[in-house]
Amino acid sequence: MTDKTIHVTEQEAMDVAEASRQKEWKQPSFMREMFLGNFRLDLIHPYPVHQGERPEFQAFFNTLKDFLRDHVDSDQIDATGEYPEDVVDGLRKLGAFGMKIPKEYGGLGFDQLEYGKVMEMLGAYDGNLSALLSAHQSIGVPQPLKLFGTPEQKKKYLPRCAAGEISAFALTEAQVGSDPARMTTTYELTDDGKHYILNGSKLWCTNGTIAKLLVVMACDSQTKAISAFVVEADWEGVKVEHRCHFMGLRALANAVLSFTDVKIPVENLIGKEGRGLKIALTTLNDGRLSIPNGSVGAAKRALQICREWSAERVQWGKPIGKHEAISHKIADMASITFAMESVAHLATDMSNRGNFDIRLEAAAAKEWNSCRAWEIVDDTMQIRGGRGYETAPSLASRGERPVAVERMMRDYRINKIFEGSSEIMHLFMAREAVDKHLQVAGDVIAHNKGPAEKLQALPHIAAFYASWYPSQWVGNFKSYKEFGPYARYLRFVERSTRRLARQVFHGMMVHQAGLQNKQVFLFRLVDIANELFAMAATVSRVHAMKVNGHPEASNAAELADIFCRQVKRKVKRLFQDLWSNDDSQKYRVALGVLKGKQLWLEEILEGLDPVFEATATERTASRPSRPKVVAIK
Ligand SMILES: Cc1cc2nc3c(=O)[nH]c(=O)nc-3n(C[C@H](O)[C@H](O)[C@H](O)COP(=O)(O)OP(=O)(O)OC[C@H]3O[C@@H](n4cnc5c(N)ncnc54)[C@H](O)[C@@H]3O)c2cc1C
Repeated sequence: MTDKTIHVTEQEAMDVAEASRQKEWKQPSFMREMFLGNFRLDLIHPYPVHQGERPEFQAFFNTLKDFLRDHVDSDQIDATGEYPEDVVDGLRKLGAFGMKIPKEYGGLGFDQLEYGKVMEMLGAYDGNLSALLSAHQSIGVPQPLKLFGTPEQKKKYLPRCAAGEISAFALTEAQVGSDPARMTTTYELTDDGKHYILNGSKLWCTNGTIAKLLVVMACDSQTKAISAFVVEADWEGVKVEHRCHFMGLRALANAVLSFTDVKIPVENLIGKEGRGLKIALTTLNDGRLSIPNGSVGAAKRALQICREWSAERVQWGKPIGKHEAISHKIADMASITFAMESVAHLATDMSNRGNFDIRLEAAAAKEWNSCRAWEIVDDTMQIRGGRGYETAPSLASRGERPVAVERMMRDYRINKIFEGSSEIMHLFMAREAVDKHLQVAGDVIAHNKGPAEKLQALPHIAAFYASWYPSQWVGNFKSYKEFGPYARYLRFVERSTRRLARQVFHGMMVHQAGLQNKQVFLFRLVDIANELFAMAATVSRVHAMKVNGHPEASNAAELADIFCRQVKRKVKRLFQDLWSNDDSQKYRVALGVLKGKQLWLEEILEGLDPVFEATATERTASRPSRPKVVAIK
């Protein structure tokens, strides 16, 4: 694998991200409105209620469930680190590789909600299969072709994908994690204009060792513009260099792929040249809804494990679930699982209806659900105690129930990293949070504008803020009384939404152009928005359950109430922390740590681990001379 180091400044990285940002917001977005102080309950209420599943989907769902139960041994898959051929074939026969592919191309034609329900079940059952199917159709060839493909591309490739030719998505490189500006995989048009020649290497490509079809992102060797291509894995010059192995998801067919003078016919360009990153990001808008849905499944599985174990395990004279410390974890788990489901279902339904801009909602659902589910998995390990840490096969061989919490933890953790890490989701949302202010007042706070330009922008700015800012102090006088006991939570969301908008504005005023570097400040704003979104979704849903006479409405109400109480406290704390914090001190300390100021803390490690030998040498060379420790008498 070539590991070319490429130097890109922070500004260049931001410019690439900015250029690929979708700037048009033609459809409404609940969360974007929220950042402007508008609590648009009408966009999420009434909460979507569906009267049963389509029989066709239900039949598939039930068959898949039976298949998982009867044919899939997750511990075995984990132990061997391979997908059994009969399992992959079985999934092919069921049509699972074509769930979201339209029927005219041989797929099952499921909508986003139906696909989300399958992801939820897989999230509860087997992370390896979840990743296999989701990498294939959430981000692999079918999704970008559905959105941007030509009729010919769809006709050529979608039937193959639906029939089970596995696909993969290749964006990441050794130097390109969250920062595509560093891309070194290049393409070049041939003189006859018939082919692109692809060269480079991709890292961590899920399904890469078994895929027949790839979506590859590469940049123009001259202009650096990023484009997306369909590449067939058996073309000359495509090579699996290495199979990567991970802490969890042990069967993941994940590869380092190399491309040497690969000839791609020009017909295989997806969309237009230079639109590759935008295509990738748009694909991910819907694509990343797999993770919040899968996370709901994982949380439900965790709840099941904890409910049973906390009732069964007796310590200190009573079941552990009756000790208050454990009981609180269980209450949180149940209420947060309900909230996670409300968020995932709402965001997925919005995507399904198609008349919403769901970029922020999908990012919020991905970030919030993956973080909450991780906390739940961690609590599950704590509640299972030593048995949580023991592997399922070891438990089984001692005659205990093989409850695989240890595997669950290993398999789940990646969800906070791939398909947009938590930090990148925060950054993406923060950019949109300040977007309107940048549009209105960007000229005044920009470093690169002269005094004349700044002065010229002032009347426009004054006109906008003279009406907008005072309106952020006045409520909408709605009592939300139709929500009964939950009306107070909606009033809280409404008040907090205006407060959030004011704080975004205050942040702009105080930090000006420096705001982009105040990540922790911005991340708190995003956290507030995410919590408020979760709260509004939960209240809207519990209300819908009541109005529609759902048999579990009063049980759900209990969960919603406990959830909203906690969110209120969390949001208040986050608001406080915006202006009362240790952010600057922490940043200063961190820079000191990076410069080696606190190396004395690591002294015992010197010479211990050859992996760090190089750094140890550098360490000694760069260490500032310290005064000898003198014993104080
Ligand atoms: C199991 C697995 C499967 C994967 N599957 C695929 C796949 O199918 N296709 C594919 O293309 N890629 C895939 N990836 C790559 C994955 O999407 C990346 O790991 C992810 O994008 C993060 O990149 P990185 O690991 O290089 O982290 P880096 O970008 O190096 O980031 C390291 C840390 O710094 C944080 N960070 C980075 N930039 C900033 C910033 N500006 N501000 C604040 N924090 C920041 C990140 O959030 C992270 O915590 C996979 C990875 C794994 C481990």
